Amino acid sequence: METNPLAPDNHGPTVCIGEILVEIVATDVGTGFLDAQPLVGPYPSGAPAIFIDQCGRIGGSAAMIGAVGNDDFGRVNVDRLLRDGVDISAISIDPEYPTGSAFVRYRPDGSRDFVFNIAKSAAARISWTDAVKKLIERSGHLHIMGSALSMPSAVEVIDRAVGIIKSRGGTVSVDPNIRKELKLDGATERRFANLISMADLLLPSGEELERAAGVEGEEAAIRRLFELGVKEIVLKRGADGASYFSHERERIDVPAFDVQEVDPTGAGDCFGGAYLACRRLGMPPEQALTYGAAAGARNVTMRGPMEGAGSREELELFISSIGRRG
Ligand code: ATP
Ligand code: MG
Repeated sequence: METNPLAPDNHGPTVCIGEILVEIVATDVGTGFLDAQPLVGPYPSGAPAIFIDQCGRIGGSAAMIGAVGNDDFGRVNVDRLLRDGVDISAISIDPEYPTGSAFVRYRPDGSRDFVFNIAKSAAARISWTDAVKKLIERSGHLHIMGSALSMPSAVEVIDRAVGIIKSRGGTVSVDPNIRKELKLDGATERRFANLISMADLLLPSGEELERAAGVEGEEAAIRRLFELGVKEIVLKRGADGASYFSHERERIDVPAFDVQEVDPTGAGDCFGGAYLACRRLGMPPEQALTYGAAAGARNVTMRGPMEGAGSREELELFISSIGRRG
């Protein structure tokens, strides 16, 4: 029997801290936004928000810390999270700044052009409020995105939250979410390394594994991460599926579901939200991987970053009706 390294669901909600955005998507493939063109949106978005939405939707206890403006883009997000069972008590409404946004257009080669309004929007104005404190003091798990390290206000809240949650027996998961090439300044690099060493569960994708370990080669990176204290690693490989590693037992590889990709954004976050919720609800890794893979695959079949996040029933229907790749 493997021991579950994550605090159980009934120990308190999984909390995610970070940017809440709307996404507006160009419906035509092409380059950039220099010409008037058809757009569709607003869709609720922001990697941490996608993660926690899927976590709540599948039935995990879930809560979000972030900020939106007092506008319809903010309401789109808060309403969606609420609908999907996420505790929104610690989302603040900024009286001055608008909700963050991202315009995205896909190029024919699959790369993307963006116009962002995040750093100077409500999304980046997270703070340690009474509501945040109350929530953290009853939380069982914290999920951190490496990308949050670029938001000073989020870093501050995460630093305080980690200590409190760990001291009450809660656990931490980290999605490194930092491209291999990305050079961080010395202080941020140390923060990143510190974040990795605090993780009970790590959810890297592709080369982020080696980036997080600071070591080349998959096996060596896994070994290094276990030495650092990480207990469970799930490596996401896009359409090639995912692999589970634990210091206690054999690795498990799962193929992806065979779907037609419409919009790849949010796959990793939906995978992670579903996997984490399932593990905290007591499922063994094999089963949590199946739900995670289904959540990631289902989400890429729909346009919009969290439109395909599935309830437990929706994912079970998906699992029983969609085949696996190769
Ligand atoms: P993101 O692009 O959101 O940052 P990521 O790179 O963190 O995502 P991926 O590996 O792309 O994560 O996707 C996570 C999981 O979702 C995969 O392990 C896989 O199970 C599923 N998935 C992603 N893309 C596809 C696809 N095209 N077809 C089937 N399943 C997919
Ligand atoms: Mg991906």
